[in-house]
Parts: sequence; C-alpha cells; structure tokens
Amino acid sequence: MPSRWIYDYFSPYEVHKHALRQTLYHGHSEYQEIVIAETECFGRCLILDNEFQSAERDEFIYHEAMVQPAMALHPDPKKVAIIGGGEGAAIREVLSHKTVEMAVMVDLDEKVVDCAKKYLPSFHDGSFSDERATILFEDGRKFLEETDVTFDVIIIDITCPLEAGPAYKLFTREFYDLVKRKLTPQGLLSVQASTVSHTALNTYSVISRTLSEVFTNVFPSVAHIPFFAMLWGFCLATNDVDPAQISREEIDRRISERVTRELRYYDGITHQALFNVPKYVRKALEEQTHVNLDNNPLMEQFPGLSEKG
Ligand code: SAM
Repeated sequence: MPSRWIYDYFSPYEVHKHALRQTLYHGHSEYQEIVIAETECFGRCLILDNEFQSAERDEFIYHEAMVQPAMALHPDPKKVAIIGGGEGAAIREVLSHKTVEMAVMVDLDEKVVDCAKKYLPSFHDGSFSDERATILFEDGRKFLEETDVTFDVIIIDITCPLEAGPAYKLFTREFYDLVKRKLTPQGLLSVQASTVSHTALNTYSVISRTLSEVFTNVFPSVAHIPFFAMLWGFCLATNDVDPAQISREEIDRRISERVTRELRYYDGITHQALFNVPKYVRKALEEQTHVNLDNNPLMEQFPGLSEKG
C-alpha cells in the first residue's frame, strides 16, 4: 500500500484520497495556496486552496465539456474570452477551432499560470505562445468592465465561490449582466458551475437560477469526471441557440470542419448526453428560488455545499 496520500474533502463527512507520487510545487500567491501534485492514478494535478481543479488523465473531459459545446453551437466563433482557466487547457480547447482569430485569457493569478507553464505542459500544450492568444493577469470582472471588445463566446472557468476565495463576485446576477453586455447578439456563455453531487446541488442550482434572470436560454449540462469522483456541472447561457435543436450529425460536421485536433470526449453523441441531465438535477434546478446578488453572495465551505440560497 502507498504510504503517502492527499485528500480531496467533499464535506466534513466524505473524502476522496489519492496516492501521492510526489509534490512538485507547494507555495502561496497573493490570492491562494497553490499545490501541483503527481498522483499515482490521475497523474499531475492542480490544487488551489485545497480544491482539486483538474488532473492530467481526465482534464480533457472537464475542458472539452466546458468549452466545445459553446464553440460548436456558435456559427462562426472568432473572438473568445476565457475568465480564469489558469492551467491553459480551456484556451487550448478554444484555440483548437480554426475560426478563432483572438482568444483572451484573463486569470487573476500569474503564479498559477507560471506553475502550469512549468509543471503542466500537457494541459496548455503550447497555447500560451499561440499568436492568437493574449494572456492577462487581473480580476476577470474588472477586465470585462473595462474592455470595449464584445465576444462570440465567453468561458468562465474560475474557482468555486469559496468563502474568502478570489472568485465569489463572479457568480452574481450583476456579473452575469455585465457578461451579457460583452457578448455579440449570437454570443454564448459557458460557466463551470461546481459539483452536481446528489448531496450538494445548491451552488449549481443557484448559478443556473441566477443565469436565468439574465439570459433567455440557460442549458445545464453534466459530465462525470473520475478525478472528482462525481458529476460536474456546467451551464450554457445564450439568447439565441438551443443545443437540443442541433443534430448530432451537424455537431460532427462542425467539429470536422473547424477543429484542428482529435477531440477525446466531445462529439455529436456526447453533446446529446451532456445536455440530458438526470431527473434529480432537473428537479433541484426547477425548485431553486435563490438569485445570487452582489450584496448577498453565495459562499461555499466545500465545493457544492453553499450556505445561502
Ligand atoms: N477547474 C476549476 C475548478 O474545479 O474550479 C477551475 C479552473 S482554473 C485553475 C481556476 C482559475 O480561476 C485559477 O487559476 C484562479 O486563479 C482563477 N480565478 C479565480 N478568481 C478569479 C477572478 N476573480 N478573476 C480571474 N481569475 C480568477
């Protein structure tokens, strides 16, 4: 049996433990605690403030599920913004589309990106030096407040709204109002929206409910991420397209015309699976009444386990 383990706490009562091969980096930035560990089963992974972010072996599921549907549903995505996404894997997915002329990634924490450059090469896969990419280090909300650009697709890949963490102000109705103003009329927003464990659905349902206050169409999607040992939730928000109205053949056609590398998770069949969320999730979404506001923000103790709402 391995002698060293790292622990991913889902709550005070549930933990997923990973055999640890080595710790590659452990330090603090101005904003958060950063760990890059190598686990026996999932390879290298990023952990921020004790939250497990993504792992080498299955990050393709998380990042393709979050990015590829929004990119495929847009008729011609040219300008894309990624808020967060420090590992560089979200921008990797964006840049896989040859329609893209400009991809701006805005992460608060330069130290996370420096660590990703050094220790997580398969995650970014050279994306940080792609000539279409611009990498900025500032608060994502401040960036959107100040930019004059409108985007075809915006991806929000920030850490969960942990109490005292740097991200909770980017889950509110006021923030989503701002995002909507920065989208082109056919624009799409994709949000990483926390866990969809049957015991911890509050954050996910509040995010979806809050987005519905701002966008005409909000589509939940879920993917099983083995590293997280649970379903993970995303929300696609738009005033335009409906993912259910696009056939699997059309998704496959768009992928083969536009995407320059082999996708491992997303295709026409996976697209349909992603947006068909289980009944208990639909029920939680329907029943949620709490709208997340700047003056009453959602705060998590653990991913998915939020206090308000
Ligand atoms: N996969 C993730 C998860 O499970 O929550 C999210 C991925 S990514 C590593 C999260 C990134 O969001 C981090 O690099 C962090 O620095 C960034 N971030 C947090 N708050 C932010 C903010 N206010 N503006 C921009 N980036 C932010």
